[in-house]
Amino acid sequence: MHENANIRHDWTVKEVQALFDLPFNDLLFKAHTVHRQNFDPNEVQVSTLLSIKTGACPEDCKYCPQSAHYSTGLEKERLMEVERVVEKAKQAKATGSTRFCMGAAWKHPHERDMPYVVDMVRQVKELGLETCMTLGMLDQDKADRLADAGLDYYNHNLDTSPEYYDKIITTRSFQDRLDTLQHVRNSGMKICSGGILGMGETANDRIGLLRQLANMPVQPESVPINMLVKVKGTPLENAEDLDHLDFIRTIAVARIMMPASHVRLSAGRESMSDEMQAMTFFAGANSIFYGECLLTTPNPETHRDLLLFKRLGINMEQRIEENDATQEAVIRGQIQKQQDDAHFYEA
Ligand code: SF4
Repeated sequence: MHENANIRHDWTVKEVQALFDLPFNDLLFKAHTVHRQNFDPNEVQVSTLLSIKTGACPEDCKYCPQSAHYSTGLEKERLMEVERVVEKAKQAKATGSTRFCMGAAWKHPHERDMPYVVDMVRQVKELGLETCMTLGMLDQDKADRLADAGLDYYNHNLDTSPEYYDKIITTRSFQDRLDTLQHVRNSGMKICSGGILGMGETANDRIGLLRQLANMPVQPESVPINMLVKVKGTPLENAEDLDHLDFIRTIAVARIMMPASHVRLSAGRESMSDEMQAMTFFAGANSIFYGECLLTTPNPETHRDLLLFKRLGINMEQRIEENDATQEAVIRGQIQKQQDDAHFYEA
């Protein structure tokens, strides 16, 4: 996050709609200009994501093959041993990742799991990698314990607009998600939160999602924008195809609204052509997941990413400790401001 970024938290529907309504080239030019003002346009941050506990999730997210509510043929696995996780993290570091994300298909971590996940965070951190986890809902106590262990980021997506949310998930509420994000923020960790496009949502829902994210008192440091991967057996397996230009438009609008956040291309990248990915990088995407497996959905093979980076002259962003210290100072300042701000989650 850059200190001087002109970050707004009061985006109106009309303003966001006006961005989406811009001619495509005007929107991309505007987004790219904002991108250049805040980031090296030829750098992409690379994370590796590992599923540390797969399947049998009690939640009913309609897009997710890991939900126990749907038969997708996914083999469920128990919590991975700490040593195996550390081994995978070493491999990720060797291939250039700077952040290692560990995901578990849980409603929330149970007390019995906490010593293991805390140990994972400690050991992965010791390798010199940034750490990220996505474990479902967190109360304040668990968020604090993960932060104390050295967890840098916590991923918890809003998925879609508050209005469309109950068409996608019924087993936890939109407010539950906001509460978890608040606990993460209170504990001093950075937030990774975004959504999924192509779930049958309207253009207004995309506006609603981006407003929720951008109008948080402190914007998420990382904003994954996923394109639905239609998995057989899930209720969304026959969802209508997303117009790729709408996907690129959404990346561009996210970049303009959240100028200092890393906008991350996440699930769905497998089905994007190199040209489409290049266009999303121009529109402001500057973070990807890297490796052979993005949890349980296919991800482009590592070498395809390297090749594309080479063809586009893109470098992988290095992790710089001093910047982290600066970022933390900025975040602390913003948390203070947020505590003084009556309009909490005003969107
Ligand atoms: S998205 Fe996460 S919470 Fe939802 S069903 Fe899948 S694993 Fe569970």
